[in-house]
Amino acid sequence: VEQLVALLRRVPETSGRRQVTGTGAIDPGRLAQAIEQGEVHCLFQPKVSLTGRRMIGVEALARWRSPEFGVVPPNLFIPLAERAGLIDRLTWCVLRQALGSFRRWRAACPDMTLAVNLSPLSLTGLSLPEQVSEALAEAGVPAASLVLEVTEGAMMGDFVMAADILTRLRIRGVKLSIDDFGTGHSSLLSLMRLPFSELKIDQSFVRTSLTDPEAPKMIRAIVSIARELDLQLVAEGIETADIAALMQHLGCVVGQGFLFAAPLSGADIEMRLKDCTWVDEARG
Ligand code: C2E
Ligand code: MG
Ligand code: MG
Ligand code: MG
Repeated sequence: VEQLVALLRRVPETSGRRQVTGTGAIDPGRLAQAIEQGEVHCLFQPKVSLTGRRMIGVEALARWRSPEFGVVPPNLFIPLAERAGLIDRLTWCVLRQALGSFRRWRAACPDMTLAVNLSPLSLTGLSLPEQVSEALAEAGVPAASLVLEVTEGAMMGDFVMAADILTRLRIRGVKLSIDDFGTGHSSLLSLMRLPFSELKIDQSFVRTSLTDPEAPKMIRAIVSIARELDLQLVAEGIETADIAALMQHLGCVVGQGFLFAAPLSGADIEMRLKDCTWVDEARG
């Protein structure tokens, strides 16, 4: 429970509403209904080039705005969706909505990418690559603009199946990203064998980079792995200018975090899209 409470405190956009402290009380049928009735939507967090403060992409992050529970964070309802067999429905709901918003932004910034998170459980169905292609065609978004983020854990189950699905996605042109790198047990072997395009350093390394003397060494090592394997490197969870400067100094080119922007509504993203050279003016 303490862990859950700590978790909830980290969610910035949870406002005055009653907060949910666990999903035990939520009926999976209620979540199914919520997905159906459009209570699940996405926010978008910019991925920013550390050198030019340019928005190079956005990551869709799911939110459930429920009349009875308030804003339920994804760390609570995604595990519930996974347990209740609703995760595919949730993934399609997020993917369709995100692509629908993203298609409108492409005119202003054609090079921008859209990232969507995939549950490890989605890497067990061979129909996934086909369905992703259909959703892209429906939205009129090129496959190369989509990045699917999977955590290292996705490769821990049936590796052969996961590798098969990821390879099929890559052949269709979709980019693949390793999320929360450094927290799982994934081996360099799986990294090198699979067609990933991006690697995201987990927030825990980024957050401790100024205080833990070992952290910069780790980050340097990750930077050189990414260079060798030709992966775009993203530092997650950058909250201060000092950490952004350190990450840049260590050779990391792209960052994401509250320093640049919290997850934003689609309308807010649209406002910040001017010329694709968006800078948070409040911070100079
Ligand atoms: P993630 O994909 O690693 O996303 C990053 C999380 O860190 C987001 O939390 C984001 O709001 C938060 N974050 C970003 N910058 C900062 C920062 O500077 N400081 C701190 N403390 N936090 C920051 P969020 O939105 O609560 O999502 C949590 C996780 O839930 C995501 O982690 C992802 O694994 C999962 N998730 C979110 N949406 C979806 C989805 O549509 N499908 C699936 N399968 N998982 C999702
Ligand atoms: Mg992610
Ligand atoms: Mg992450
Ligand atoms: Mg995470």
